[in-house]
Amino acid sequence: MLNLVLLGPPGAGKGSQAKSLAVRYGIPQISTGDILRVAVRDKTPLGIKARSYMDKGMLVPDNLVVEIVAERLAMDDCKAGFILDGFPRNIAQAEIVEKMLGELGEKVDKVINIEVSHKEIVKRLSGRRVCRSCGEGYHIIFNPPVDDKKCDKCKGEIYQRDDDKEDTIEARLKVYDEQTAPLIDFYNKKGSLVTVGGIGGFQEITEKIVNVVGSR
Ligand code: AMP
Repeated sequence: MLNLVLLGPPGAGKGSQAKSLAVRYGIPQISTGDILRVAVRDKTPLGIKARSYMDKGMLVPDNLVVEIVAERLAMDDCKAGFILDGFPRNIAQAEIVEKMLGELGEKVDKVINIEVSHKEIVKRLSGRRVCRSCGEGYHIIFNPPVDDKKCDKCKGEIYQRDDDKEDTIEARLKVYDEQTAPLIDFYNKKGSLVTVGGIGGFQEITEKIVNVVGSR
C-alpha cells in the first residue's frame, strides 16, 4: 500500500510528476482538476456546478470534490494505493481525507511538497497548453507540440485552459497562499511532509521524489 499526496502551487508540475510516479509505482493518479475538467466538458450536473468556480480560479465547494474523491478511492485500482494530485486543497479537505482513510485503517504515507516561486509559476502557467482529448500537457516555449494546434500523441485539439489566463492565475495563486499553503504546516506536524525543489529537469525532480518515497 502506498498512499501519496502531491502538494504545491498550480503549475508546480504535480500533474506530470503524478503521472510518472503512477507508472513507476503501479498505482493510479487521482487528479480532481482532471476529473472536474472532464465533467465541465461533458456538461454533467457536477460540471455545471463546478464551472463557475473553476473559471474564476476559486476552489469548487468541498462537498463536491470530496464526493468525487470518495467514489474514486472506492474503485478496485486503488487497492494497492494512489497518488492524490490537487487534493486536498485546504485544511477541511485534509481532515476529511484523514477520516476517510482512518476508517479503512489507512493513512497518507507521504506528502510531496513541490516548491516553485510565484514568479516562475506565472511564466509556466501562461504558456501552458493542454490536449482537449487526452489531457497531455505542453508549453509554448519549453515543450511545444510539433503542430501548434494538434496533440503529438492523439492529434486532439490543443487549447489554453481558461484558468491559465493571466488574471485567473493571480486569483489561483491567492487561493493557494490562503487556503492550500497552510497544508504544509499541517502535514509537517504529522511528520509526513517532504519538500522537493520543483525547478530543474523533469526526470531529475522525479528522481528526487523517488529517493524520498523509496523504490517499491
Ligand atoms: P487543477 O487542475 O488541480 O489546477 O484544478 C483546476 C481547478 O479545479 C481549481 O482551480 C479548482 O477550481 C478546481 N479544483 C481542483 N481540485 C480541487 C479541490 N481539491 N478542491 C476544490 N477545487 C478544486
